[in-house]
Amino acid sequence: MSGIPFDQREGWIWLDGEFVEWSQARLHVLSHGLHYASTVYEGERVYNGKIFKLREHSERLYRSAQLMDFAIPFELAELEAASHELLQRNNVSDGYLRPVAWRGSEMISTSARFNRVHVAIACWQWPSYFDPAARMAGIRLKTATWRRPPPSSSPFEAKASGHYQIATLSKHDAENSGYHDALMLDWRGHVAEATSANVFFVKGRTLYTPVPDCFLNGITRQTVIELARALDYQVVEATILPAQLGDFDECFLTGTAAEITPVQSIDEQHYRPGDACRQFIAAYTSTVNA
Ligand code: PMP
Repeated sequence: MSGIPFDQREGWIWLDGEFVEWSQARLHVLSHGLHYASTVYEGERVYNGKIFKLREHSERLYRSAQLMDFAIPFELAELEAASHELLQRNNVSDGYLRPVAWRGSEMISTSARFNRVHVAIACWQWPSYFDPAARMAGIRLKTATWRRPPPSSSPFEAKASGHYQIATLSKHDAENSGYHDALMLDWRGHVAEATSANVFFVKGRTLYTPVPDCFLNGITRQTVIELARALDYQVVEATILPAQLGDFDECFLTGTAAEITPVQSIDEQHYRPGDACRQFIAAYTSTVNA
């Protein structure tokens, strides 16, 4: 356990159009979102008071809701204005925002067509400790036994709660075995992503990353692909098989929370975080702080 539990902190939370005291931001136990995972959310970072790629995150939230067959009952601009005001009210300059939307309590059944959609935004101070030296040690991944389902089995482009069931199972399994995180394969057995971040491999001046055809095409992933061009790396979106993991020099994860996280090993395969990890960490740091 680390830190104060999230329901016991202080400050303001934006809930259904109003700023409420943190402790009062409650929902009923008979909420559809809780029972049936009809919930979508975002994870956003704020650097120097500015929310990085806010518009991309907002658009993904609305698209996630649409994919889950519900509509967010607020204008995008209203949510973005609320996010900015919330940062000020909570005095957060370098931190994390968590917008979330879920179906309420009108119906408790698989059908939920009359359920009201609720929306909340929370934020907290969470500075990015970009100590490059510490990061460069890299994290250790264990291949998960759970696999990302095919696109015919889940609306994979949605950042929806249901997708995190196997992520938490895989992360716990990895942690129980002394690893930091899990590498998830997809239903075909191709390398897919980590439990809450995308994955990149480096060979010479080329970056390889799996095609996002059954998992989130992360906003950080897209940022890194743009940075790669500027850094004169070629980017290849390709099928990567576990048997090919030994073909690469370096490996790193990308995500809003993970930022650029070098990987030291995947199972028995070792990598030495080097120039590529260093360059992408530096480029990402200057981009988010620009
Ligand atoms: N995959 C999963 C499963 C995630 O939860 C995240 C974090 N949102 C990502 C990838 C990376 O996405 P982003 O760069 O947009 O944060």
